Amino acid sequence: VKVAGNVHLIAPSWSYTYLVVGEKLAFIDTGLPQYCEDVKKYVVDLRHRLQDVHLIINTHVHGDHVACNKALKAVCKAKLAVHELDAKYIENPDYFLKDTFKHAAPPEDYVREAKSWKDKVDILLKDGDTIELDGVTLEVVHTPGHTLGSICLYDRERKILFSGDALQGTTAFMKEFGPVTGLYTDLDAYIRSIQRLLNLNVDMILPGHPDIIKKSNVRKELENCLKRVSYINDKILQNLQKTEMTLQKLTETLGIPVDEWNLTSIESHLRSLLNKCLVKKKDNFYSVL
Ligand SMILES: [Zn+2]
Ligand SMILES: [Zn+2]
Repeated sequence: VKVAGNVHLIAPSWSYTYLVVGEKLAFIDTGLPQYCEDVKKYVVDLRHRLQDVHLIINTHVHGDHVACNKALKAVCKAKLAVHELDAKYIENPDYFLKDTFKHAAPPEDYVREAKSWKDKVDILLKDGDTIELDGVTLEVVHTPGHTLGSICLYDRERKILFSGDALQGTTAFMKEFGPVTGLYTDLDAYIRSIQRLLNLNVDMILPGHPDIIKKSNVRKELENCLKRVSYINDKILQNLQKTEMTLQKLTETLGIPVDEWNLTSIESHLRSLLNKCLVKKKDNFYSVL
């Protein structure tokens, strides 16, 4: 569906792909592997040619955003653009697996999927770069936190922000994954990124997952992102007040599945609380200071 001017949202699943239409076409994220054909069909149904796709931008390197890159590139000569800090994860998925799975070995099917992303990145993006598409100028805003190389793309003229997963707020994303935590690899960086986004003039956020956020809800959603962080920090401190705990035990006590993603996020909360001297760590045990 058309969401703004020449920007279309392709949403065969809860993972969103955006298509910027002009004489040439550009994709922002490409979605989950099982929906590549739906993405291609959307372009054809618009009476455009897949061969005219000239650029694929990934907001960050997670499977639900990059998995169809290669299926699309198989039919066009698109260049791939990724932030310089996430690019190595596409060029060498082994780095991604090593940096992502720090607490347990990755499941075999996940390893297979990650290895299938392997590709050369043609354009290394960094903060402040601009990308010229047909009738649209997108500014790269580096918003680390969810991943280190997460970016938003800002259309200053139309006040639109493509946010990927840079916002881990409280909309449908939270309904899908439960009330407890977003996915953060670096929480302090995340907080700074959200504060930076609060200073941009934005009328519409086009995120990587439901829902699109408009007008007065933009500010509310960004503030929700920060509220969610404080909420979990408070929960962590309340639990550690009772007794010292390991990361695993704490995650379990918070009532969320003890998997790699949650362990990464909760550890990231703990690192932030350590930095603020609200928590201390001895051996593998965390306690309040
Ligand atoms: Zn993600
Ligand atoms: Zn995602």
